[in-house]
Amino acid sequence: MGSLKQLYYEAKENPRLRRTFLAQVDLQERGPYVRKVVYGLPQTYRTDECTPMAVDPHPFSEENCPGYQAKIIVHPLAFYEDYIVTLDDFLSILIDHEGFHAREYFLTPQKISLNAFCLEEGRALMSVDRHYWRDVFENRAYHNQLEQHRIGRRKLSSAMIDSIHENMGS
Ligand SMILES: [Zn+2]
Repeated sequence: MGSLKQLYYEAKENPRLRRTFLAQVDLQERGPYVRKVVYGLPQTYRTDECTPMAVDPHPFSEENCPGYQAKIIVHPLAFYEDYIVTLDDFLSILIDHEGFHAREYFLTPQKISLNAFCLEEGRALMSVDRHYWRDVFENRAYHNQLEQHRIGRRKLSSAMIDSIHENMGS
């Protein structure tokens, strides 16, 4: 078997290799916070809402409690989205973004949902004020992606960096 990088580029071309590739990825320090990485389509598939990857359960889920290991779902889109160019771009989303969320959900879910008993309020908040949602915890994950790039741990493509800035609303 070739390098992880080689396998990544093969998996981009060949969907049959994607689970094999994902099984080879070392989540590093995020590993303890993630139950497993799953490849597949979102349950309710809508292309306009589809993100490359997601954490399950989502932050306002009743399942979230300290010490709960989330799953990271990798959607097919992660292998053909325009701004995910290199293996480091891919790992940036998987480990530095989704893994970052998983750690926060594991350690301090109440920080995410503000009040674990106000799930309905959390959902309402999310739907009425996207900026608030972003500020609460999305930007922390985006900052972490940029930080890992800044310290030289990842080398992100300019398309990826542009996408992060766009998502941060800057
Ligand atoms: Zn996120």
